[in-house]
Amino acid sequence: MKHVYIKTYGCQMNERDSEAVAAMLRGRGYAITNSENDADVILLNTCSVRDMAEQKALGKMTMLAQLKRQKPDLVLGFMGCMAQSRGNELLQNPGVDLVVGTQRFHHVPDYIDQLVAAKENHDLMVPFRIVDVADEPGSESTIRDHVLGTNGDRQVTAYVSIMQGCDMYCSFCIVPYTRGTERSRPINEIVNEVQQLVAQGVKEVTLLGQIVTSYGRKTIPKKSGKSAFVQLLEAVHEVKGMERIRFTSPHPKGFGDDLVQAYRDLPRLCEHAHLPVQSGSDRLLKAMNRGYSRDWYLRIIGKLRDARPDIAISTDIISGFPGETEEDFEQTVSLARDVRFDQAYLFKYSKRRDTPAADMPEQLDDEVKERRNQLLLALTNDFIAQRNQQLVGQTVEILVEGRSEKGGKRFFGRTRTNKIVVFDGDERHRGALLPVRIDRANTTTLYGDPAIHNL
Ligand code: SAM
Repeated sequence: MKHVYIKTYGCQMNERDSEAVAAMLRGRGYAITNSENDADVILLNTCSVRDMAEQKALGKMTMLAQLKRQKPDLVLGFMGCMAQSRGNELLQNPGVDLVVGTQRFHHVPDYIDQLVAAKENHDLMVPFRIVDVADEPGSESTIRDHVLGTNGDRQVTAYVSIMQGCDMYCSFCIVPYTRGTERSRPINEIVNEVQQLVAQGVKEVTLLGQIVTSYGRKTIPKKSGKSAFVQLLEAVHEVKGMERIRFTSPHPKGFGDDLVQAYRDLPRLCEHAHLPVQSGSDRLLKAMNRGYSRDWYLRIIGKLRDARPDIAISTDIISGFPGETEEDFEQTVSLARDVRFDQAYLFKYSKRRDTPAADMPEQLDDEVKERRNQLLLALTNDFIAQRNQQLVGQTVEILVEGRSEKGGKRFFGRTRTNKIVVFDGDERHRGALLPVRIDRANTTTLYGDPAIHNL
């Protein structure tokens, strides 16, 4: 049996794509290994959102090409976003046999079969290589198979891909060019997948897409003022046994009154909303083509906090977008102070090919980007630590996901607000919704004690 190792870079969408490819390869008789040294096939599922992610994957491939010198039959491939944007160009990297784009993941088993067969046929004069970055209508419905509990442990949470692509065209972002136009799966197909996950013991599902709030807007008409995405949330909420629902990543523009109302009406929808703000300056929001203003964003946060007072708000912020002045940056700092985010993912602006921002004058030096990024990091970490400290002494509900990385008796779960809680537990806690009293906290983790010991 041939062994395949898949290394994933980037976001949850990429993790989900890799999982689906692994499931398809298993179905074809391949074994999935956690060690590249045991592998006959190594696939890098790549990310293009920032240059650093691309450089990491390219560097890794250079190392793998050296491994291939000792193991000439090794099959090496790039999949995903960088494969889509660079295509044939990636064959210039030594050792690469396969390049598969974001709409063609489901062809990977066929391609691996062909490449393994070609390696076994040593008579071939020309190296046999495959590049496939074509568009494929319907590819959004091909990311549906799961590999749950790879190490034999029950898996409690799962991602479900509800759509592919993005039509937002933010001026800094490469995603519309790597993931194609928005295409959504039908509601009943997604609900079936969620039902199957429940039958396998999953208790929490995260609905995934590049812009989930745009789900179904081209194909599913509004019903009683409710967007297709809210209709989908309601349908998933009906699935018996699915205790918690999350989604990522949305766009602030998608938080209409119907979605705010869903936070009021759907108790299994967790009280956490990720609203990537990117900047607090109206001037920059316009240059970024974000389609909302600072005031509008703050109004949405206000509405969400009215709907669910204990809701956690997280965000993404870019520092050093072309032309960002100290005044623009101050606007972002003051917005972060106003909102007091529970979590913030902070990025230095990275020039991406084919995007309008890459050609804007006034590209900033890395030093400026780094300084602003560090300032925001210190500020947001301060608020996160304060918010986490407020939980000390309180009892919160967690869903226990499994053993903590440190091992031993340490288990971990997540609060409904998406904060990680570590506690001393044992296997019978896995999959339980457990009240836990918080003893101490830092910026990343809460530590607690189960409030009920005889569960
Ligand atoms: N749904 C999100 C939104 O509303 O924009 C998009 C998710 S995007 C793939 C993840 C994050 O990466 C973005 O929110 C943005 O902060 C960051 N990002 C995207 N392009 C970037 C770039 N060129 N430089 C730095 N950060 C970038």
